[in-house]
Amino acid sequence: MKSSSAQHLSELGEFGLIGRIRERFSAPEGVTGIGDDCAVIPQRSGRDTLVSTDMLIEGTHFLRADIPPFRLGWKSAAVNISDIAAMGGSPTATFLSVALPADLEAGWMEEFLRGYAELSERFGTALLGGDTTASPDRICINVAVLGECPSGSARLRSTACEGDLICVTGFLGDSAGGLKAILEGVERDADVQALIDRHYLPLPRVQEGLRLAATPGVHAMMDISDGIGSDLSHILEASSLGAVIDVPSLPLSPALRRVCTRHGWDAFQLAAGGGEDYELLFTCTPETEKVLDIPHHVIGRCTQGDGTTAWRGAGTSIRGFDHFRQGRPDAQDSSAR
Ligand code: ADP
Ligand code: MG
Repeated sequence: MKSSSAQHLSELGEFGLIGRIRERFSAPEGVTGIGDDCAVIPQRSGRDTLVSTDMLIEGTHFLRADIPPFRLGWKSAAVNISDIAAMGGSPTATFLSVALPADLEAGWMEEFLRGYAELSERFGTALLGGDTTASPDRICINVAVLGECPSGSARLRSTACEGDLICVTGFLGDSAGGLKAILEGVERDADVQALIDRHYLPLPRVQEGLRLAATPGVHAMMDISDGIGSDLSHILEASSLGAVIDVPSLPLSPALRRVCTRHGWDAFQLAAGGGEDYELLFTCTPETEKVLDIPHHVIGRCTQGDGTTAWRGAGTSIRGFDHFRQGRPDAQDSSAR
């Protein structure tokens, strides 16, 4: 067997590495640390502070030639604020750090900041600091976001219950369809452009998250950044449960259906395995689901289990995204079983 120091990150995987970090650094009593969309830090005031941070690296998360800087600025703020929405909190402030190549045009950064400001203003989130440094060639962006919620009201990944329904707040797969269209250079008709807009201009579900966190029978929640094939397994592992997902009930937008028919793409694979939809994934009791007053779709149910998902009605295996493995082989089709 290889010693852990000889192991490559591709063998360990993104989540294996985070697991190693988590083993080494434990959170103080009463604080939720590594493992959720945000850290939850109780304050004396009866409120909890929420903190999260996310990076966007040129070549990994975006291609400079493909994404207009306005859209990258918007997306950098949006994906971070989405982690506050995922806990059911209100975003309050962000910190922006950038590493930029010296030959980047100043106008590029102007446009980036215009997009960042427009998204931030929509959610009343102030930019309060950051860091600026040179990078040898690639653009690297890191955003840290702060938010808050009433004490004890944040929804975690670890609090799903057996028998809960599994729900999402909106269409899945549009962002992955938009990315596929960009990478394959398909003709940009109105449907394709709508998918590309969903990829570049995600809207964090802050209001929906606040409503869900104010509803007692809503148990676990997270945002969908890596695709439900990967993200659902985080809720299941943290809650020591399994799940059955009814693949044909995954909500698909009319635009995604039409584009997939036109190009012969598998819409359900994009919906389950594709990331960056930034919808909320949550679990709640069946009674609660009947009275929820936000748009949502029921896609499955929590069962007894060990973190794995049975995908009913899937024609192919479903994989989410892992940064070191480019897709995890842990979510196999079980429709034949
Ligand atoms: P998300 O998709 O919501 O951004 P991630 O999958 O990136 O969440 O991270 C999962 C958890 O691991 C989060 O709680 C995050 O704060 C933590 N985490 C990720 N990378 C690191 C790191 N390098 N050091 C400490 N914690 C980390
Ligand atoms: Mg998240």
